[in-house]
Amino acid sequence: MEKCVTAEHMTTLLPVKMDVCGQVKYHDPVHSLCISGGTHGNELNGVYLVKNWLKSEAREIQRNSFRTQVVLANPRATEQCVRFTDVDLNRQITPENLFSSSESSEEKCLPYEIQRARELYSQFQDESGEKGVDFWLDLHNTTANTGPFFIMSQTVGPFPLHLASHLQMKFPEIRIMFLKPGNFERLHLDGDQDKERKHAPPLKFPTGGVLDMGKEGFTLEMGPLANGILNASMFNLAKEIIYGVLDIVEEFNNGKEFKEKEIEVFKPLGIIHYPADENSEITAMISPDLDGKDWKPLHPGDSLFLSFSGETIPYTGHDVVWPVFINEAAYFRNNIALSITTKEKVTVPALKLKANQP
Ligand SMILES: [Zn+2]
Repeated sequence: MEKCVTAEHMTTLLPVKMDVCGQVKYHDPVHSLCISGGTHGNELNGVYLVKNWLKSEAREIQRNSFRTQVVLANPRATEQCVRFTDVDLNRQITPENLFSSSESSEEKCLPYEIQRARELYSQFQDESGEKGVDFWLDLHNTTANTGPFFIMSQTVGPFPLHLASHLQMKFPEIRIMFLKPGNFERLHLDGDQDKERKHAPPLKFPTGGVLDMGKEGFTLEMGPLANGILNASMFNLAKEIIYGVLDIVEEFNNGKEFKEKEIEVFKPLGIIHYPADENSEITAMISPDLDGKDWKPLHPGDSLFLSFSGETIPYTGHDVVWPVFINEAAYFRNNIALSITTKEKVTVPALKLKANQP
């Protein structure tokens, strides 16, 4: 049974290259920001925020110093209220999907979400074919009891971290999670993807997510919300958090300086699969002691699963970990029970507008 309780991808994480005390970094002002919803068509918070902003003039998301655009990322999946129709759009923003040339007849045969990835990229690229949006905010929901959290690439610069940290002052329940390249890749793609990924530019499309359409950005993930439904409180909270992000970007553009700061982040260690029998049929559920306890420490020996015959299966790892995405519905089809992270502090250097560089 113990062998079922292993974490995949237990690779050593690279240290965050920001731990340089006393340094000041400089950043360009943000000229354009895009908010996407419906990347997963059954995560309705983002779907309806974006739909309503598209319908109205959406003055509340405009700020004086930059332009805000909104986009419904996966209209077909949204219409059908499913996560995706052919393949997960949130894994398709890759050089091989976006830049490989194909005949228009071949293009029509491509999975819908790859066609959509190409459409989105051409819609949001600049004249030179490069990314045209300075900051991207992608809206998601999880069925896990996570509260609101920002997900960003592990290779992120100081700007998104400062934004996230400022939002935490107003909403202390917000957490920050890093996503390392390839972290969730095996969910919807086969192993070949990793091989190809090694040849991809390391920073341009770190995770293949819709988020990577922007030069920088993060995902706003909120849970718990069942797929295909809305929750008014969560909808309103998402709105407040998004307005907060827009406000702090505006302040930065107007000269606000971010001081050096120590920020708590959750770094992914891997995923834990459900115990399964020789036919790959799961044999246990998340333990009731663990269910709903996202971000709470899980110690070696703590209850992890409860088998269908009533036996408790403990966590057998050697270190305390912080689980997240416990019982996430979208991962169930891949026998993934939860993701585990480690909690760390990173020092983010002071950040000023490039125009104020001496
Ligand atoms: Zn999602």
